[in-house]
Amino acid sequence: MAGEAGEGSGSSFGIAQDEAVAIKDKYANKQKLMRRRVDQYKIELRNPCRQGKKLLVLDIDYTLFDHRSTAENPLQLMRPFLHEFLTAAYAEYDIMIWSANSMKWVELKMGQLGVLSNPNYKITALLDYLAMITVQFDSRGIFDCKPLCLIWTQFPEFYSSKNTIMFDDLRRNFAMNPQNGLIIKPFKKAHSSRDSDHELLKLTTYLLAIAELDDLSNLDHNNWQSFSQDNVKGRRRHQ
Ligand SMILES: [Mg+2]
Repeated sequence: MAGEAGEGSGSSFGIAQDEAVAIKDKYANKQKLMRRRVDQYKIELRNPCRQGKKLLVLDIDYTLFDHRSTAENPLQLMRPFLHEFLTAAYAEYDIMIWSANSMKWVELKMGQLGVLSNPNYKITALLDYLAMITVQFDSRGIFDCKPLCLIWTQFPEFYSSKNTIMFDDLRRNFAMNPQNGLIIKPFKKAHSSRDSDHELLKLTTYLLAIAELDDLSNLDHNNWQSFSQDNVKGRRRHQ
């Protein structure tokens, strides 16, 4: 899979959040590149953005789908509870899917899994590798990441750093917006793990709990597993 070059080193390629912030500052000149990319890459809406909804951006490989295992039917490689998760999330979030593959592959895969035709939710947009930018980091070299500002600048009346959350199994994809990223446990070895993987169920609870907040930007998504409704109540009380 050409678009996934370097993916194999993912697990040993974790970038601490402070380092990711350092990248952001140090490579401010990348903003220029990013602005060019933002101008060039036009996000095509499959469904209208909805006023008052937050935005959930999802990776595909190892997040929604085990792209490395083989099966007669792609549905066997789908992460458990995917449709239930998307249905529940859709109540509070517009959903975009952003993969490091080509748009053709993204449409094919999401079509095979029934994500583009499910009557219970609608996908707002699909993004592919062309929307990614390359950043350089002294000790770790060059890698591609997914800059959320590409979405925010095209739909400023709907989405911002305050109402966007992105799930990806690779921390480096958040390099330009670490605050908005949630590292999801990779879904691998689908045949043996699909009976025990409950990540999307657990994340549904988290997503719906934080959806009540006006501002997600001060949450630490690294601690999502220990987040409880009490946090929401506490925060709302003080608003
Ligand atoms: Mg992935």
